Amino acid sequence: MAESKEVVIKRLDETVVNRIAAGEVIQRPANAIKEMIENSLDAGSTSITVAIKSGGLKMIQISDNGHGIRKEDLEIVCERFTTSKLKEFTDLRSITTFGFRGEALASISHVAHLCISSKTQGSQCGYKASYVDGKLKDQPRPTASNDGTQITVEDLFYNVLTRRKAFRSASEEHQRIADVITRYAIHNSGKSFTLRKSDNDTSSGVTVRTQLGASALDNIRALFGSNIANEIIHVEHENETLHLRIKGYISNANCSMKKFNFLLFINNRLVECTSLKRALDAVYQSYLPKGGRPFVYLSLEMPATNLDVNVHPTKHEVHFLHEEAVIEEVQTAIENKLLSCDSSRTFYTQKLLPTASILTKESSEKDAAKQQSERIYDHNLVRTDSKLQKLDAFLVKTPKEKEKPHDSTNLTDKPRVEPQASASSSNNLTAAELPRKRKIQLTSVLQLQGEVKKRASKDLSEILHDHTFVGCVDPELALIQHKTKLYLANTTKLTREMFYQIVLEDFGNFGMLRLSEPAPIRDLAMLGLEMKESGWTPEDGSKEDLADYIVKFLSEKSEMLKDYFRLEIKDCDVTAIPMLLQNYIPPLEGLPMLVLRLATEVCWDSEKDCFESFAREIARFYAVRKGYTDLEEIIKQRDAQVAMEIGDGGNLDDEGTESRSNPSPWKRTVEHVIYRAMRSHVKPDERKAKDGTFLQLANLPDLYKVFERC
Ligand code: ADP
Ligand code: MG
Repeated sequence: MAESKEVVIKRLDETVVNRIAAGEVIQRPANAIKEMIENSLDAGSTSITVAIKSGGLKMIQISDNGHGIRKEDLEIVCERFTTSKLKEFTDLRSITTFGFRGEALASISHVAHLCISSKTQGSQCGYKASYVDGKLKDQPRPTASNDGTQITVEDLFYNVLTRRKAFRSASEEHQRIADVITRYAIHNSGKSFTLRKSDNDTSSGVTVRTQLGASALDNIRALFGSNIANEIIHVEHENETLHLRIKGYISNANCSMKKFNFLLFINNRLVECTSLKRALDAVYQSYLPKGGRPFVYLSLEMPATNLDVNVHPTKHEVHFLHEEAVIEEVQTAIENKLLSCDSSRTFYTQKLLPTASILTKESSEKDAAKQQSERIYDHNLVRTDSKLQKLDAFLVKTPKEKEKPHDSTNLTDKPRVEPQASASSSNNLTAAELPRKRKIQLTSVLQLQGEVKKRASKDLSEILHDHTFVGCVDPELALIQHKTKLYLANTTKLTREMFYQIVLEDFGNFGMLRLSEPAPIRDLAMLGLEMKESGWTPEDGSKEDLADYIVKFLSEKSEMLKDYFRLEIKDCDVTAIPMLLQNYIPPLEGLPMLVLRLATEVCWDSEKDCFESFAREIARFYAVRKGYTDLEEIIKQRDAQVAMEIGDGGNLDDEGTESRSNPSPWKRTVEHVIYRAMRSHVKPDERKAKDGTFLQLANLPDLYKVFERC
C-alpha cells in the first residue's frame, strides 16, 4: 500500500511561506510592539504612545515624534529586507546583532492589517499608506499629521487562525505588553512612554506612563512603586580588558520580593540571559531573607562582535564571548555595592504585581439556593416583619408610633427575614465598589486574605450574612436574630475584625476622609502618651523625645502610608484618614492612640507582618466601641450629617424604621451602616463563637418547650 502512494512535494504558495515566516518573527502582540518601539527609538523619538485594544489582538497603535518616513520610502518599508539602517553599520555582524534586518514591518504586514502614517520634518504634510503581505495596498495619500510616525496594526493573525486561537486572554497579552513598555521606559528614561487601553469598556485608561525628562529612579518609582525605589542603589562599573560597561539600579538588602524582577539590556536591546540571572540570584541569597528576590535593572555594553544573539529574532536569550568572566565581573560589581551600602536599616518591602483582579466574592446566589432547598418546619418559623422586632420599637416610643400600634399578629411566612437584595445593597456602602479600583496585588496581602478565608467559620459568617438586626444594647453590644436564634453580638470585636478584613480586601483602594483641620502628629502623640491606655512609664524615655521620634518615624513612612492605606501625612500633620466604609466616620478621639500605636505596635520588619499589624491597628481605631466618655454626644453631632446622607441615599431598609422609632444617631449608624456592612464584609473565624463575640441568648424551639410546660 505504501508503495502505491507517491509522495508529492509541493511548493508552498509564497504568501503562505511569508505568513509562516512572519509568525516566527512576530509571535504575539508584545513582540510586534517591541519591534515598533525599537523603530521609534531608532528614529530619535522622545515621546512614544502605544494604544491597544483587546491586549493588542484587535488593535495596536504606536505614535512617535521621531524623524518620520519619507513619502517615497513608504512604498517599500514593508518589503522584506528593507532597512534604512545599514549605512550606520559597516560590519554585517553588528547589523544582525542589533536586529536591523528590515523584517519587522514586513512580517507584521503578512499577519495583520497594517497602516502607516508619517510626516518628516521637511515635508509639508504627512502621508498615509496601508499594506498587505508586504506590499502597498494603494499609493500613499496626503494626510494631516504631526512630525513623526503613527503605525496601526489591526486584527493581528486574522489570517493565521491557529495562532489566534492560541491566545488565552487579552489581559495576559496586555500584561506582556505592559512589561515590555515598562522595561523600555526605564531603560530610556527621559523619554516619555505611555501605554493606553482603548477598549470601549470601563477598563480603558493609561496603564503605563513615564514623563519626559524623568530619571531612571523616577521611572522605577512610578512603575515599580516607592518601596522598591526607596531601596535602590545605583551601579556603574567598567572593565577595560573585557570591554565591558555596566550600569544600572539594583535593590539593596532591605528589599525582598517573591519574584526576581530582572531587567536586562545589552547594547540597548532588551534581552534575557539565564546564566546571568542565576548568578545574580546567588549573590542576593546571602543578603535577602530565605526565598527573597531582588529588583535588578542592568544595562551592559560590550563589543557587538562579542555578542551572540540567537539568530532567531524573537528569542531574546543571549550568550556572549567570555561569558564566565563577564558574569563574574557583574557579580563582583553588584556584591561590592551591596556591601558598601548601609544594610543595617530595616524597612518594610513590597512587591508590586500589576496583574489579575482580586478575590472571589462569596457566592451569595449559592447561599440563596441552599437556603431555598432547606425544609422549614412550623416550629422553626419566625415572624418576618423585622421592623416589629427592633428593640427600639419597644423602648423608644415616639408620638407617631403610639398612633400606629404594630401588628403583632404577623408571625409567620418565611424564616428568612432580610431579603437578599438588602445584602447586596449593603455593598454600595463600601469604598470597594467605587470605580477607581486599582488593580494591584501584593503577595503578602493575598496571603493575608487567604488566611482570613481559611479561618472563616461558615456558620458565623452565615449568621451575619442573614441576620435581622434587633437593637443596640450599648455601643459595644447589640442583639441580632438569625433564624430561630437570638444572639448578643459584640459589635466592638466584630467591627475590629470587619475593618481588618476590609483593609485587606480593598488594599490600596480606599477613599480618603480629609480632616477639616490638619492634626499635628506631635500633639497627637503627646495626647496619646498622656492616656493611661498608652502604658507609658518613665523608663520609656521622656514623652517629648518619644513624640519627636514618632513624628520623624511616621513622616518617613508617609509615602507608603498614603499609597497603601490612604493615611495622609503632610508636613508632620495628619491630613486625611482612610475611608473604609461609606457613611461611617471612626471615633476621631482614637487618633492619638492610633498615631502612637502605628509607631510602636506595627511590626515594620517584614512586608506581611507590617501589613497585618498595620491593618489591625487601623481596624482597632475604626471599631465601634465604648469607653470614650462623650462618645455618644460626639457621635450624635457627627452622625446628624451621616444620618441625613443615609436618608437621602434611600439606602434605608424599606421598613421605614424611622417613622416608628427614633433611636439616637449612633444607634442608627450601628444598625444601618455597620451591621449592614457586616452582612458581606466580615467572615468571623471559629474562635469568635467562643470568645464572647457571639452569645446565644435564646432559641425559639427551646422557648416553645418552656411555654408548653407552663
Ligand atoms: P529595521 O528596523 O530592521 O530597519 P523594520 O521593518 O523594523 O526594519 O523597519 C523598516 C524601516 O522602516 C526602518 O529601517 C525605518 O527606516 C522605517 N521605520 C520603521 N518604523 C519607523 C518609525 N517609527 N519612524 C521612522 N522610520 C521608521
Ligand atoms: Mg526594526
